[in-house]
Amino acid sequence: MKKFLVGTSILFLLFSCKVGKNDSNEISEADITTDSSTYDDFSSDEFDGPEVMPLVDEVPVRGIYNPTRTILTDLIHTKLEVSFNWDKSQLNGKATITAKQHFHASDSLILDAKGMEIKKVEILGKPLSFTYSDSLKLRIKLDKKYARDEKFTVTIEYVAKPDDRETSGSAAITSDKGLYFINPKNEKNGNMPQIWTQGETEANSVWFPTIDSPNSKSTQEIFITVLDKYLTLSNGKLVSSKKNADGTRTDCWKQDLPHAPYLFMMAVGEFKMVKDTYIRPDGSKMEVNYYVEPEYEKNVKAIFGETPNMIKFFSQKLGVEYPWDKYSQIVVRDYVSGAMENTGAVIFGEYVYKNDRELLDANDQSTIAHELFHHWFGDLVTCESWANLPLNESFANYSQYLWDEYRYGIDEADYQAEQETNGYYESGMYQGYHDLIWFSHNDKEEMFDGHSYNKGGRILHMLRNYLGDDAFFKGLNNYLVTNKFKTAEVHNLRMAFEEVSGEDLNWFFDQWFLGKGHPIIHTVQTIDKENGIVKIGIKQRQKTDDFPIYKIPVNIAIWDASGKRIEKIVIDSLEQSFSFKFSGELQNVLLDADQVLLGKFFEDKPSSQFIHQYYNSGRYRSKLISLKRASKLKSDASEKMVFDAMNDSFWDIRMTAISLFDVVKNKLSEQGMNRIKDLALTDAKPQVRVGAINFLKALPTAEATTIFKKIIENDKSYMVISSALQALMEVNPNEAIGIARNLEKENNKNINLVLAEVYGQKGEAQEINFFEQKINEGKLKGFDELRLVIAYAVYIMRMDIDLQEKSHTIYTMLNEKGGSSVKMYLSRIIDYNMNSYREKVNQLDMEIAQLEEAKAFGQADDKKRIKQRYEDLINNLSTLVNTEELGF
Ligand SMILES: [Zn+2]
Repeated sequence: MKKFLVGTSILFLLFSCKVGKNDSNEISEADITTDSSTYDDFSSDEFDGPEVMPLVDEVPVRGIYNPTRTILTDLIHTKLEVSFNWDKSQLNGKATITAKQHFHASDSLILDAKGMEIKKVEILGKPLSFTYSDSLKLRIKLDKKYARDEKFTVTIEYVAKPDDRETSGSAAITSDKGLYFINPKNEKNGNMPQIWTQGETEANSVWFPTIDSPNSKSTQEIFITVLDKYLTLSNGKLVSSKKNADGTRTDCWKQDLPHAPYLFMMAVGEFKMVKDTYIRPDGSKMEVNYYVEPEYEKNVKAIFGETPNMIKFFSQKLGVEYPWDKYSQIVVRDYVSGAMENTGAVIFGEYVYKNDRELLDANDQSTIAHELFHHWFGDLVTCESWANLPLNESFANYSQYLWDEYRYGIDEADYQAEQETNGYYESGMYQGYHDLIWFSHNDKEEMFDGHSYNKGGRILHMLRNYLGDDAFFKGLNNYLVTNKFKTAEVHNLRMAFEEVSGEDLNWFFDQWFLGKGHPIIHTVQTIDKENGIVKIGIKQRQKTDDFPIYKIPVNIAIWDASGKRIEKIVIDSLEQSFSFKFSGELQNVLLDADQVLLGKFFEDKPSSQFIHQYYNSGRYRSKLISLKRASKLKSDASEKMVFDAMNDSFWDIRMTAISLFDVVKNKLSEQGMNRIKDLALTDAKPQVRVGAINFLKALPTAEATTIFKKIIENDKSYMVISSALQALMEVNPNEAIGIARNLEKENNKNINLVLAEVYGQKGEAQEINFFEQKINEGKLKGFDELRLVIAYAVYIMRMDIDLQEKSHTIYTMLNEKGGSSVKMYLSRIIDYNMNSYREKVNQLDMEIAQLEEAKAFGQADDKKRIKQRYEDLINNLSTLVNTEELGF
């Protein structure tokens, strides 16, 4: 919260109105200089309120509050007719907007239109006057005052100029240009020219005039005119496609159901469309299409093939049939975000392009599920303001859990949930904690963070656990049915659950949705063996001046001689204790038996309980905690637990066990090593094989070399092969270089990165071709591109001057066309090379002096020529170095 430092005189002014001393609105000099002693003269009795503000120099002011946008006009229908000027990256458009005044009669229509050239505005063919001085709001004066039930239709002819706009963005969406022309003049080989849009948050008003707010909705119709070779995609159904006399074609896409302007989309390019089908419960077929570049047509089903199953699963789970006409997914180049839930026309970045072998390592089903689920949460029921964004994103995030649980089982879902939780903690650490429904954000783009997504998803999971599946999913159904095609704020969600469950849920929503932070819980056990009673002392340790004192209903699992039982408790104070009876030996007490709570929990209990917990709790997180806690203790039991965990049914537990084995190994050292060798060669999950490979670097060189070579030869996973190559590079670099050259033909991203690093350290002159090709291709992006360039810098320093001189061309190209990560570090990288060349010059100086002394003038002249070349190279490179970035 921002605070402004002001003197007490302002405080006086605030109060003076109330006591009737200052009738005039004019503030005189005397008022302003009134000092605090005057204030003290007032007795507190003169104030109506019960409390008087203490006199302080620092006066808190009202914090930022981002309200929902006031609705003046309701959009009804938006008809767009667009064509493109590829040379100028511009759109020529005509928007026909049907609307009505929301409540108050008015002759004004205010539209968002960013950076456009407005050609004319008309109503029924008659020109209307308008102002557009800020290039942001188009203020139209209608031909008369319209009452709230009177529809009117306005047409606007305009040119959209996205490239002329200054853009900014968020962590989730890196630009707000709205409309993107990619390689529009086809200057870059192998980069298919294309056009696509990205609306969220309020960037679609760059390419059509609208009320660009999440609390406005409109039906839509788009006529897109393009050269006949292009495919188009938009929301709704393709209702017509007509060839024009000039060789162009006009496609009309129409969506009869209303949605928010940020969900409007278009894409144009020589895409291939692959058809798929979803069969609705009534037997009717719905189109599920995938749009990709021609070379990926063969991979489409492997990438997106689960989509119809997902539509069916989510429709059933929510009890609301997928509400839209069709479901298309398209992959575009240079996308500015991960993916976007444009209604029925979802966009993905090119990272989803994967072949069968790449899909062994990772798939993008979580993202596919996420965007699909938005079609209920976001597209059907829309957050009414960006402060309420979790009503979109928390659900989409949670859908990933639902899909994993259904398709891959509870362990995989819990594992992914753990990653989400860690993402929330990380984002909190770097950006601080804030209310989940965050009215006081500075910029709407800040809403796209680890709170709205990760934390929100975890909160929904807790709510599901608390209410039970029946009430939870019925509550979601109630929320969707009640608010469909409308907008909602968080209270609509609470009330939907309250109506279904019959239970007040303010306490839950207050602490989780309207509050910030998470509980930090410490428990301590006191065991009274004689009487068979265990007392669990529980403390909430989070800072309570900032975070709530939580109310946490939770299940405790107790294992004793009679087996396992569940006790329900409610934690709701800073310090509490609960006592439970046990029979025979107490084996374990586990707080949060279902492992659903968001928060940090530290259970102080005997390590024997953690070992019991590994074998008996049956949930991913409790097993993970057991391994980490009990492995700190070197004992036979903990060693056996870690050894057994290397054969756990869930892969991440196996992987964790491998990483912990060094700590606990004792009597099982040899068996453990054999098991890890076995895992490196045969485990079903690539990640586990990678974990095992990293462990095996400790083997004697000859044995490690044999195993790594065997893996590189036989494994199918690129992730595993590249890890084995990296490991081989560490233990036996001379063997690695030959094998690396054989792997070039794979042309896989992971492999190429490791090759670059191997060549960086061990490559010879011939490897220049690899580096030049990969750098010029520009297929590696972001941090990967940076890794490649660093490897090149290491490599080139070891080469001779002929190759080193060529680096000037490469660095010049990167300086112009490299990605932002590379550009950020390029000066440092070049400087690193230049320093080594300066050393070379010094060395040559010495050699020249020695040669001259020995009267070997011919040889000395040769060295002088080389020295000159180094000096020229240093000069040339220095023009590329930004000394400010180096901190000079
Ligand atoms: Zn999302």
